[in-house]
Amino acid sequence: MKLTKTVSVGQVKIGGGENIKIQSMTTTKTADIESTLSQISALENAGCEIVRLAVADERDALAFKELKKSTKIPLVADIHFSPKLAVLAIENGADKARINPGNIGGEKEIRVVADCIKAHKIPVRVGSNTGSIEPNFLKKYGRSAEALVESALYNVGVLEKFGVNDIVISVKASSVPLTVQAYRLLSQKTDYPLHVGVTESGTLATGIVKSAIGIGSLLLDGIGDTIRVSLTDDPVEEIYVAKRILRAVELDTEFVEVVSCPTCGRCSWDSMGLANEVSEFVKNYRKKAKVAVMGCVVNGPGEAKDADLGIAGGNGSCLIFKKGEPYKKVAEGDAKETFFAELKGLLQDE
Ligand code: SF4
Repeated sequence: MKLTKTVSVGQVKIGGGENIKIQSMTTTKTADIESTLSQISALENAGCEIVRLAVADERDALAFKELKKSTKIPLVADIHFSPKLAVLAIENGADKARINPGNIGGEKEIRVVADCIKAHKIPVRVGSNTGSIEPNFLKKYGRSAEALVESALYNVGVLEKFGVNDIVISVKASSVPLTVQAYRLLSQKTDYPLHVGVTESGTLATGIVKSAIGIGSLLLDGIGDTIRVSLTDDPVEEIYVAKRILRAVELDTEFVEVVSCPTCGRCSWDSMGLANEVSEFVKNYRKKAKVAVMGCVVNGPGEAKDADLGIAGGNGSCLIFKKGEPYKKVAEGDAKETFFAELKGLLQDE
């Protein structure tokens, strides 16, 4: 993993070898305190560690004060085009700002925002995506990794000029290959922590695939300090997808892995249904364990030898096994209840 500089967002640290932090963005109107808090709480319960909120007007900026009273999770203010709103959100308690100096204004406006950032000792994320590349870089490099990187680094340079040094950078595209190329290039050019994601990745199924490949490839390269999965869906889904990506690349090993076979003509019971119920049940447990739900006794226990607990069906009865060895035979009708009782026992074991 590339060792980057550490940046603190409230109590949460990004970079410097810290765990990869999961973040998302609310979809509510920020000034609607009740709805926003409810979504923040749902995100937090799912495992989100940093929440970003859109600041579109003065009411949104002022809402940070109220929101901060009711939540401990770090809140990031996402502001474009308005130095006034940036200052207002920061003064009202934002733990981090997401701005691009290029669209905040001229030197005078940037200085005001930079001074406010420094006075409140908060970090900033600057970034480019294919829709916000600075015109001169777009002209020079076209829509390319170089343009994304140079545009982002230009914005970083502007902030550094005004003494801001706690910076997180992103270079997002909706194209997976372009995103990966851009972050690889950026990682060679900077030690600032990187916020990694594929932007506008689409609705649930497409977004999951694009994010998993894009974010996953970079994490396997050791690139990325915080991740955001962007989905046109409930942001809580973004957290579950982010968690699954971290688990798939084995950067998070404290979880209950559910191994299940695809089933085939040998399967004579609803192992798919049970596999889904078990996955749902264990998804928030923080414990390193492996559970298997296999279609048949012919191959099931053997294929899931290293599972702490497993079940395989066949001809009216199911076999519960532990570490690949038979443990208990139960009637198919009792299988679910018995298996869940064993599963709860496993999860409670220290
Ligand atoms: S475990 Fe049995 S049912 Fe599942 S895929 Fe293998 S052979 Fe088929």
